[in-house]
Amino acid sequence: MDRLFRISYQGAVQHAVERAGALYPVSGDIFGTHTLGAAIPGGLNATGLRVLAPVTPSKIICVGLNYKDHAAETGMTLPSEPLLFLKPPTAVIGPGDPIRLPPGVGRVDHEAELALVIGRRAHRVPRARAWDYVLGLTCLNDVTAREMQNTESQFTRCKGFDTFAPVGPSIVTGLNGEPRDVQAWVNGQRRQASNTRHLIFPIDYLVEYISFVMTLEPGDIISTGTPEGIGPLVSGDTVTVKVEGVGELSNPVMNEYVGVIL
Ligand code: MG
Repeated sequence: MDRLFRISYQGAVQHAVERAGALYPVSGDIFGTHTLGAAIPGGLNATGLRVLAPVTPSKIICVGLNYKDHAAETGMTLPSEPLLFLKPPTAVIGPGDPIRLPPGVGRVDHEAELALVIGRRAHRVPRARAWDYVLGLTCLNDVTAREMQNTESQFTRCKGFDTFAPVGPSIVTGLNGEPRDVQAWVNGQRRQASNTRHLIFPIDYLVEYISFVMTLEPGDIISTGTPEGIGPLVSGDTVTVKVEGVGELSNPVMNEYVGVIL
């Protein structure tokens, strides 16, 4: 099991592998041929080192209503097939980056989710081979402008704002679909707690289902949906997504001020 990070360090953005407590910079293509350099002194605590979102996906495919308990709390009927929507790559931020609340959109919620990162181009992959195409697992916060969502039948606007897709802190390789706790914490208080055993559509099913529609490229992200317990974020909060055996992704929350262009 490795943890694959993307870091900014000494003026360069690169991937790095954390293995047995040491952090090694990656040369080459993390999805193909690559080599590891000499360990970075201090590892993730090296002076000036910053952890970025672990990949820059061409697309993020999200699954709505994939936990029975969350479908119940939103009053929506259980889907007979996965409900898919896309988040734009411009929504991605890394650990520690602020989630910016847009002006005038009302309530904005956290959604703690287990996500997977595609490792090989995937087109019409059968379920039995799905894990061959998964590089590893990570955490994702499917931040949602809830009041906006409730006024529209499409999710592009309410889930597509810049900063509405925190991802990371790393991609953990060598894992499988065994059950994992998924939690959201806000300011040290637990707000969501469930387990992926309650997923309606599991990871291998989703890879088959989604790759039937669209080719998945290396680095693309599939986010598996959120359990019950969704709740609002306000400026000054710190929200943490925890996925058992995968990691903890924390982000501060701040208001985006009217007139500020990012
Ligand atoms: Mg979601």
